[in-house]
Amino acid sequence: MANNNENGGTNEELKAKLYKELEFKLDLTIHGINVDTETAGILGPASSGQRGQERQFVFTDGEFLGVSFGVRPDQNSAYGIETDDGKTALYRYGKNKTLIGDVELKKRTPRPEILNRLTSDGVPFHTIASIGEDGRVHVNYSQQCVLKDKGEDCYFCNYGIRNATIKTPKQVGEVFSELYLAGVGKHLNLTSGFMQERRELEYYLDVGEEIRNRTGLKEFRATAVIGAPVDLSQIEKYKEAGFFSIRMNIEIWDKNIWKAFCPGKHNHCGGWDNWVNALERAVEVFGRAKVASNIVGGLESKKTILEGVEYKLSRGILASAGSFHPMIDSYLEGHRTPETDWHFDLQKKIAALYRKHGYTFEQLHNVSPSGGLAVSIFQIENGDFEDGKLRPWRYPEPKIGSIA
Ligand code: SF4
Repeated sequence: MANNNENGGTNEELKAKLYKELEFKLDLTIHGINVDTETAGILGPASSGQRGQERQFVFTDGEFLGVSFGVRPDQNSAYGIETDDGKTALYRYGKNKTLIGDVELKKRTPRPEILNRLTSDGVPFHTIASIGEDGRVHVNYSQQCVLKDKGEDCYFCNYGIRNATIKTPKQVGEVFSELYLAGVGKHLNLTSGFMQERRELEYYLDVGEEIRNRTGLKEFRATAVIGAPVDLSQIEKYKEAGFFSIRMNIEIWDKNIWKAFCPGKHNHCGGWDNWVNALERAVEVFGRAKVASNIVGGLESKKTILEGVEYKLSRGILASAGSFHPMIDSYLEGHRTPETDWHFDLQKKIAALYRKHGYTFEQLHNVSPSGGLAVSIFQIENGDFEDGKLRPWRYPEPKIGSIA
């Protein structure tokens, strides 16, 4: 017999509703939304790699009330947002233009006051880090990836500005420590492209030292996002520096496609086998579910992606396969991603593997960012609901003196 949820419906009804929402969200992400001139004016200028500014919207009528959706502008999409006489609505184009529902673009969340503070060398915190609603602090310490200079950048990626400035380890350490000590910053995600001569280790060690000195913590809740080192003994140094978890995105599981699409990773990280060995070594050092690796979902067969996901999960490595979106200025600009059904089925299968290998919702958040859609599906299947929605993720409250 089906259980009733807090909204009076059955869990089966709620599951069906949430699945429909997730699939619709995914469809909008895959296809993007054609934004008319008036709406584009409201959205504002484009961010890097996008054709327009992303913004959340909610329906003011129809079946998806109370759910937030994102606008990823794409002028070729079968979906369109139009604003007329101050009223904005989402349509599906085709033989006939169908109204999906009236929508309201959400106002940008104001920047938390603490991000207006200055570092000791006079730089505003908000130029160093951003904070998500759940307390995740995101830092791209540079917009540089030297693979771009070498012409060896990953084919799906448009990251990398020549001679980009590098935020100093002292600035990054200071800002995260201040946010952490204020109880606002709960998990640091520290990432960038490859540095000259693979000097990432040095950088992360300096950030770790700064955070340890300022907070008194030996270990702090942070993920080091790195390329696999050729010398695997380096992995222990990230742990010793105080990082809680580590991410090394392999991007592609099929060895031959990897070699073709990730030439820089192939040439500078000891090859595909070394990358996989690095992930396994990292589990020995950091522990189960404190190591993660993403695959770009849509560049190889579902079969090889799932082989990779299962291989990693069975060895304590968190696996995900975010949906491929062709980026402007990447080698794959103008290509297409597989259909929504393909992606949704892949995410359902990954969620089933999380269950099969006994992972918990908490473990799936040890390494940032989490596995996204597959984690939501995992929650649906576990009946992990709160107030008629999926239970939102909450990081443990910062505890000074010990890692939560
Ligand atoms: S995905 Fe590849 S090209 Fe892009 S930043 Fe990372 S290493 Fe550089």
